[in-house]
Amino acid sequence: MITEIDKNFLHLACIVSKLSPDDSVKNGAILTIDDIMIGRAWNDFPGKTKIVLHPKGLKRERICHAEIRVVSKAAKFGFSTQGSTLYASWAACSNCSKYLIDFGIKRVVTLKTTFDKSSDSWRESIELGIQMFQEAGVIYELCDEEIGAQLFFRGEWISV
Ligand SMILES: [Zn+2]
Repeated sequence: MITEIDKNFLHLACIVSKLSPDDSVKNGAILTIDDIMIGRAWNDFPGKTKIVLHPKGLKRERICHAEIRVVSKAAKFGFSTQGSTLYASWAACSNCSKYLIDFGIKRVVTLKTTFDKSSDSWRESIELGIQMFQEAGVIYELCDEEIGAQLFFRGEWISV
């Protein structure tokens, strides 16, 4: 069940997504334990590596998804990710999902709007991720309520 606290963290995920250099989709993620934030991240290039937006295929190879960045940053600074909740403005592809399972994430909360607006290939990947979450016992929830935020998704600003 989506609570007001959940919507607040989803809103925050949308705010941090604006820091992404990606010119197509800006995704933000927040990691919490017992409603305390232990990490925030957005899709970005690792460390001080170059920002490479084109060609798109090369960008995909080099960029880190927000969901993986938030758990790896939390772990880097000594926060246990076991039993945490991940909020993301768009989540989670199959590649991220398998790592989130291994990082011990217990719940993933994201937006129905971005799920619905995903391209066919991304949706296929997300659905595989959801299937893996179900197999692993990770709770996956889509928020279908307005959270009053703006998000840059598939090349345009949308209201979510
Ligand atoms: Zn991903």
